[in-house]
Amino acid sequence: MEVTLLGTGDTTGTPTVGCDCDTCQRARSMGVERTRFSVHVRSASGQSLLVDFSPDFRSQFLREDLEPPDAAVVTHIHFDHLDGLGNVYRLADDLPVYAADETDPATGESVARTVRERYDYLDAVSVEPTAPFEPVRAAGLAVTLVPVDHPPFLCYGLLVEDPETGGRLALSGDTSYDVPDRSLAALSGADLLLADGIVPAENCEYHPLGGRHHDDAGVPRTFGDKHMTVEGARQLGDRLDAERTRLVHLSHYIPADRAFEDDMAVDGERFHL
Ligand SMILES: [Zn+2]
Ligand SMILES: [Zn+2]
Ligand SMILES: [Zn+2]
Repeated sequence: MEVTLLGTGDTTGTPTVGCDCDTCQRARSMGVERTRFSVHVRSASGQSLLVDFSPDFRSQFLREDLEPPDAAVVTHIHFDHLDGLGNVYRLADDLPVYAADETDPATGESVARTVRERYDYLDAVSVEPTAPFEPVRAAGLAVTLVPVDHPPFLCYGLLVEDPETGGRLALSGDTSYDVPDRSLAALSGADLLLADGIVPAENCEYHPLGGRHHDDAGVPRTFGDKHMTVEGARQLGDRLDAERTRLVHLSHYIPADRAFEDDMAVDGERFHL
């Protein structure tokens, strides 16, 4: 399979609108971007799966010269992962969208139901309620949703496997470091892990909730309660024994001299698994 990182940024992206911080300026001078999160996977069979509907859908697809996807999956209902779905209006004739079928206590409905209700005007979209840990066949790939930890909403990581090549892509999804054991087991041993690392650990002092899930050296692996720190994301990569880990969902609060380190993704990266 061919994996293209369409969007590697957090909810404001880098550069952030109206921001001239060192990191945003550095991104502009390097000519790189971290738009809102999305990943494109082309299977060996030639079909394509979209992971999450970034609000930047249109510019991402034009930039990478991609056809509309054959299937899609939505990890959770936050703006930066779902609100781009309206972009498929008049683009797709038939688009199955896979989303979890578990009822979220915070909303009283599943991700699948929320997607269906918000986008019921899109006739081409058929929402496919999907049970976690049960692989579904989508766009020639085996896709498994695994619960992660992203309060207050239910959110899911993903394992995407290509039956033709044996390639395995794992996505942490938006999550704290507190990923359930069964999900860790499902995500382990991938060829490529995309791990949510939003800010360095020291930024926890600016979060009202501080940091959580400290390692043995006292470094918080969770920023507040929703996302891993950069350190947490790297440790998750080690723990899952991923062949390769790329940090994604990165924010412009990462200091400019560290924001483009080797394992930190930028938009447009492509991998063959
Ligand atoms: Zn900035
Ligand atoms: Zn989120
Ligand atoms: Zn997000």
